[in-house]
Amino acid sequence: MNVLGIEGTAWNLSVAVVDDERVHAVVNKAYKPKEGGIHPREASQHHAESMPSLLKKIFELFPKEKIDAIAFSQGPGLGPCLRVTATAARLLSLKLSKPLVGVNHCLAHVEIGRWLTGAKNPVTLYVSGGNSQVIARRRDRYRVFGETLDIGIGNALDKLARKFGIPHPGGPKIEELARKGEKYYPLPYVVKGMDFSFSGMVTAAEKLKGKARLEDIAYSFQETAFAMLTEVTERAMAYLGYDEMLLVGGVGANERLQEMLRTMCEDRNAKFFAPPKQFMGDNGAMIAYTGLLMLKNGFETKIEESIVKPNFRIEEVQVTWP
Ligand code: AMP
Ligand code: MG
Repeated sequence: MNVLGIEGTAWNLSVAVVDDERVHAVVNKAYKPKEGGIHPREASQHHAESMPSLLKKIFELFPKEKIDAIAFSQGPGLGPCLRVTATAARLLSLKLSKPLVGVNHCLAHVEIGRWLTGAKNPVTLYVSGGNSQVIARRRDRYRVFGETLDIGIGNALDKLARKFGIPHPGGPKIEELARKGEKYYPLPYVVKGMDFSFSGMVTAAEKLKGKARLEDIAYSFQETAFAMLTEVTERAMAYLGYDEMLLVGGVGANERLQEMLRTMCEDRNAKFFAPPKQFMGDNGAMIAYTGLLMLKNGFETKIEESIVKPNFRIEEVQVTWP
């Protein structure tokens, strides 16, 4: 079965085709804010303007006639962006007379990670711009064991970068600066049970402006934030007795975060998994693949039920596949 998937919850509009065995094609078009962070309406306009050319491109790479179903990210995400994605998906489903399936974006990050790495039942750390969650499966549901109480780690890194005049997305640049950091400045380490918070840290780090080298601020920020994420991930693994961990989401590209998690896993004889960078951040292949899993297990979304869900939680989806 060949499934076309459309991802467009935030900054990246991405369309892909996958089947059981492989990713056939992926095309992307990223929205870049002229200044500041992601503006939901501007991002949705970007998606609406880019959709026709992206669809044209994907059908040049993979024949339209061979598509068996359409999957789209139904949420969570920015409302205006989700609506553009859903509208395109409904239209394609009607025009090609193929079934439609709405996919939970967080679930899609986890499932493509499992598929591409071979992890069976991991504790997943999902770290992106808008989301930061520790997720694990118990029977027929994925559950969130810990999550940010305010902003996602990616958003925190991007905000900090912006304060220093670094354009969006600032995460990669903070990583580069942090490599040259030497002095550690203590920042608020906020872990409450299994949950964590970043906004106080951003404020405290911003206050170091003019008093510390930017490299040291970036270094201190990464060390503190990533230690928090590692602690909570380890606690979830210990509670559940799981011996696999999977890192997904755009911030997962960060080598220092990977190093900390890998060390933690080694210390407890667990296996560390991370998919290739291309499939870590938001991408259409994860939506197409999860749509395929869902369709094979009897899920289908009728047009009347395809309303977008900006606050869609991973726990809401019943998981009937292995
Ligand atoms: P996503 O929403 O999953 O596509 O992830 C986007 C987020 O990942 C943005 O906030 C980026 O700043 C962040 N990001 C991408 N690469 C890195 C990196 N190497 N280190 C830290 N953050 C990163
Ligand atoms: Mg994401």
